[in-house]
Amino acid sequence: MPSLPVLVLNSGSSSIKFSVYDAAGGARTKRLEGAADGIGTNQGKFWIRNGNGEKTADKSPDLPSRVEAFALIAEALNSGDFPIPAAVGHRMVCGGPTVQHNQRITPELIDKMERYVAFAPLHTPIAVYIMRETLKLFPDVPNFVCLDTYFHRTIPEVASHLPIPGEYSAMGVRRYGFHGISYESIIYQLGDEVPERLVVAHLGNGASISAIRNGACIDTSMGLTPTGGIISATRTGDIDPGVLLFILREIAKSTSDANAAADKLETVASKRAGLLGMSALSNDMRNLREAIAQGNTKARLAVDKFVWTIQKWIGSYFAELGGLDMLVFTGGIGENDIATRAEVCSSLGALGIRLDMERNNIRGEGIISAEDSRVVVRVVPPAEDLMILNHVVRMLTTS
Ligand code: AMP
Repeated sequence: MPSLPVLVLNSGSSSIKFSVYDAAGGARTKRLEGAADGIGTNQGKFWIRNGNGEKTADKSPDLPSRVEAFALIAEALNSGDFPIPAAVGHRMVCGGPTVQHNQRITPELIDKMERYVAFAPLHTPIAVYIMRETLKLFPDVPNFVCLDTYFHRTIPEVASHLPIPGEYSAMGVRRYGFHGISYESIIYQLGDEVPERLVVAHLGNGASISAIRNGACIDTSMGLTPTGGIISATRTGDIDPGVLLFILREIAKSTSDANAAADKLETVASKRAGLLGMSALSNDMRNLREAIAQGNTKARLAVDKFVWTIQKWIGSYFAELGGLDMLVFTGGIGENDIATRAEVCSSLGALGIRLDMERNNIRGEGIISAEDSRVVVRVVPPAEDLMILNHVVRMLTTS
């Protein structure tokens, strides 16, 4: 059978991950995966693993910008060691109000999505750069965009519309929601076990929670940008607008340039806040847990705040869904931080959530609720690349 190599590109704010699958005849065989990580630093990492999990490249290059990071990936993909892809799938966090569906990428589509860079300022610049470079690298290969916002298209207007003057709503300012490809992949993996009333907590470097009825999203915590919702590693989450105005006025004391002031405010709200801002120590849960064990009270308060916001969202979703059948934890913290799962569930007994502490003692896939828990609680790692691959194969065969 001829092979059908599909390249999946998944860029974050400081990393580009890539993988090649063979999707011939319904197969989903991973041929290679790799990443350029630590973009914007001189402590970058670049690695590739083949389909057997063996490392075939492992370097620590300077990666001052996305240009050097993608050049390394392009060189590897073009080296002749790997097949030229039959199609490429790109993850895109937000394409703005006019690009809401997964589709084939054209230069015009990239321009259209780039206009809404303000809706995902940490993610859009790198994603559109990679799309343009990939079109140049493989000019005859169809490229497709898969949007994180796509899963949230079913959210009712009462949840997505914002209480702002109509002129701003008309510019596309509304709640979009993110991490959609991760949520889709959880639904895909649960298959027949998707219950009527489901809450998924995607707790990673960015964190969000969604309420899902019969597999369709009805509410999600992130809003216009990934800075909204629950607090996360370096982002405030939802916050009284007066706080932002206060900080803006402080910034304005030392700059008269409104755009520069807005950029500074964005840095405060999305890069210096959240777990990092509160702990004044780290954005990584592993470091915070270590500090807590040594009695660090700021780290303790930061993690308590994180847990508290998650509990509040789960409580409000319980009301919105009219009860709860299943709670899923996913993302780097959701999969690996046993203590966060225990702390989140500790005060949710009234909702019918009871963990089995021994079952909870896992990293990765498993059911962690007690036998008599009314709500099934489980851990399901996300499979975003597989989901992008599924979308690409479908669009390739129907386009
Ligand atoms: P993600 O964005 O989903 O890749 O998640 C990355 C985050 O997961 C890291 O910044 C840590 O906060 C957290 N994390 C990863 N591994 C662990 C671990 N073993 N224990 C606790 N937290 C972890």
